[in-house]
Amino acid sequence: MSEKFDTSRLPRELSSVFEELVARDPHQLEFHQAVYEVLMTLTPLVTRKPEYQDLAIFERITEPERQVMFRVPWSDDQGQIHVNRGFRVQFNSALGPYKGGLRFHPSVNLSIIKFLGFEQIFKNSLTGLPMGGAKGGANFNPKGKSDAEIMRFCQSFMTELQRHIGPDTDVPAGDIGVGGREIGYLFGQYRRLRNSFDAGVLTGKGLTWGGSFARTEATGYGLVYFAEEMLRARGTSFDGKRVVVSGSGNVAIYATEKAQELGATVVAVSDSSGFVVDEAGIDVELLKDVKERRRGRVSDYANQRSSARFSAEGSIWEVPCDVALPCATQNELPLEGVQALIRNGVQMVAEGANMPTTPEAIDELRSAGVLYAPGKASNAGGVATSGLEMQQNSGRTQWPFEETDAKLHQIMVGIHENCLATADEYGVPGDYVAGANLAGFIKVADAMVAQGLI
Ligand code: GLU
Repeated sequence: MSEKFDTSRLPRELSSVFEELVARDPHQLEFHQAVYEVLMTLTPLVTRKPEYQDLAIFERITEPERQVMFRVPWSDDQGQIHVNRGFRVQFNSALGPYKGGLRFHPSVNLSIIKFLGFEQIFKNSLTGLPMGGAKGGANFNPKGKSDAEIMRFCQSFMTELQRHIGPDTDVPAGDIGVGGREIGYLFGQYRRLRNSFDAGVLTGKGLTWGGSFARTEATGYGLVYFAEEMLRARGTSFDGKRVVVSGSGNVAIYATEKAQELGATVVAVSDSSGFVVDEAGIDVELLKDVKERRRGRVSDYANQRSSARFSAEGSIWEVPCDVALPCATQNELPLEGVQALIRNGVQMVAEGANMPTTPEAIDELRSAGVLYAPGKASNAGGVATSGLEMQQNSGRTQWPFEETDAKLHQIMVGIHENCLATADEYGVPGDYVAGANLAGFIKVADAMVAQGLI
């Protein structure tokens, strides 16, 4: 797939950075994709910021500061022993302690963690909070595991990870496959090994032991706050819109809830087995019950709701809508998906997942003039609220839900303004991709320049 990235579209100064990176790690396709997408928008910096080149900022920022890979042995309920691979990629700490989630999914490998860690640098920069970028996880499949198995896995994972993290060093959180339950087991093991209640070492904690109100809702709510600003900038709103949300995890559930609160009808959600169409609008309480409490499938949702039908065949992107919110996983929205959305008159695509839209699909959206928000801007609400959780932990305090949600809202409005202002400043008005990449990048790069050659 690396040949697919046309380096002739990059200026020589950036194409050489990209080609060397591909030569160094030729199999890390997702990482190549994430870097290519960013470099494609940084062309103006070659002339406007010559110091970046002199100081090898492009080379340095694309190489993680530290990468840790480790064995995670654990035994299942039958006493059988399994071995998984754990990762923590500490990508950049110019703006603050490394910060980013942990993903437990069988697809996890170094390429996936590096792409996520690279995106996280710029996302965290855009939040305006003092956080560096990192990501971690394991190729562990939580599906079908008992609570006791999940606990033993988390304890084994943390037994190694604890050497590399800390409230001022690196602060992990959740991502796919890592929610409140897993953060609980991870925190318990950290506390036990270190004999220290360092609440600020993880975010996404429970509300009675250092967690923040609105953290659970934050990524989905933040996505809709950002998308609402995009619609407002075009003189419209969510009211009366038909919305398709892919996925049915934490991001999808709370994006659905907030979009419907703002007057939209979410007509479809999905999981890895298929998708559900519910013309009456998704019943969020039922969806939460199925997914959060029973850890079930969207087909279970359809079985309990007469207005809903489940399809194991076809694509969720064929469902006509005004707004599409991809909230599942990377590369879930391919060119054919975007073509179907455009055929059905989509007005906006805003990403809740990380890198869900493939490069060809993004090109297609942009040439069709569809509003498009890249995840590193539109899904930044999760990590932004993690930053707020860190602030509360430092102050040994807890703010009420409304106060925290209002701060999240303000941060998303701020990111939206920053993207548009930066896009204007660089002569690409309305281009959220360029605006987000340039604004996120410049802040980190300037900090690296100021901090010397490290
Ligand atoms: N995994 C989330 C993300 O992709 C949240 C990370 C965090 O809260 O540290 O941004």
